[in-house]
Amino acid sequence: MKLTAEQYIEQIFPHDADLARVTASLKANGMPEISVPPGYGRLLTMLAALAGGESALEIGALGGYSGICICRGLRENGKLISLELSPEFAETAKQNIREAGFGGMVELRVGEALASLAALANENQRFDLIFIDADKGNYPLYLEWAIRLSHPGTVIAGDNALLHGRTMDPEEDGPSVIAIREFNEKMATDPRLISAIIPAYDGMAVGVVKPF
Ligand code: SAH
Ligand code: MG
Repeated sequence: MKLTAEQYIEQIFPHDADLARVTASLKANGMPEISVPPGYGRLLTMLAALAGGESALEIGALGGYSGICICRGLRENGKLISLELSPEFAETAKQNIREAGFGGMVELRVGEALASLAALANENQRFDLIFIDADKGNYPLYLEWAIRLSHPGTVIAGDNALLHGRTMDPEEDGPSVIAIREFNEKMATDPRLISAIIPAYDGMAVGVVKPF
């Protein structure tokens, strides 16, 4: 049977027990199964390493799948701060990240991401990689905060740029779709960024804050 491009690529890579454990825990806890797909998990690992590997920020932890992928690309003394609204999800993420061997690298901050982002700015924090993957309506604001929390060379990535096709459907005009379109357009045109939008899976917008 002919495989899809995504299936073909996924079966080249070896089985990943730590990520399989995350997926199983989402099922067991009745959590939404909306982790990044395997190909984007690998991309996040690569981006974390390319961006410098010292510090990362994630908006939307869920069960820790993308968090584990990011930690894999960080140095031994690297740090990930992960923002999550649900205390239960944050607990599951923490446990899965610990079981994958990265417990010492991660700080989960529970609450509205917009409030946590303001606190991070007050603390004068800067990050090498910032991954946006929470409520879609706030993506434009999350991107502004990401740029605020960046340094030259920071990589910013946003998952679900295509919203399962709704982004490019002219009949769709709900608040998430409008916000994602605004986010994509800002990624594409903001003079502070060099960006690309990858159309595989559900779309991933990736940009680097101009390093020079
Ligand atoms: N990045 C995860 C998937 C995140 S799913 C992974 O790939 O493994 C989106 C997450 O964002 C959910 O866990 C949801 O609870 C969280 N979320 C939604 N709205 C939020 C908000 N306003 N502030 C912080 N987190 C939020
Ligand atoms: Mg996502």
